[in-house]
Amino acid sequence: MATLEIVKYPEPVLHTIGKPVERFGDELKQLVNDMFETMYAAKGVGLAAPQVGVSQRLFVMDVPNEAGESNKIAIANPEIIHVEGEQIGDEGCLSFPGLYIKIQRNMRAIVRGQDVAGEWFELDCEELSARCVLHETDHCDGIVFLDRMTTLRREMAKRKIKRLQKTGKWE
Ligand SMILES: [Zn+2]
Repeated sequence: MATLEIVKYPEPVLHTIGKPVERFGDELKQLVNDMFETMYAAKGVGLAAPQVGVSQRLFVMDVPNEAGESNKIAIANPEIIHVEGEQIGDEGCLSFPGLYIKIQRNMRAIVRGQDVAGEWFELDCEELSARCVLHETDHCDGIVFLDRMTTLRREMAKRKIKRLQKTGKWE
């Protein structure tokens, strides 16, 4: 396993729609393992393939349960098939180091996708898991969380990003 370099905003790959995953073999398993390692090393709860420079519809996540137990999930070709409710909370992104912004998301989301073997499955998520699934599926669609902010928060975020870039803290 290896840790991969995390791509930072505004790299074009973050704004590109990922290609569907078509091959479910050792190469995909390797990529998924490396993505998990990269995510854990960066202390994130989710990481999408475009964030490591791979323009594919794939993400990994690990939102621990209430007992603090790990819950590793990898999803290829995710589709959000149902959403309901709403939640507003601070959200971060490994491609936006040091930035935590309030974002409105659905409280519940059901995602359909394929595991590393290509088997289709559905996942019913709430709260942080739903936030994570929606955020990571967005990455697969070339959407970053900046695109989900209110105009006011987006302008504030962009100013903060500029400051971080100038002081060399955007790496
Ligand atoms: Zn992200």
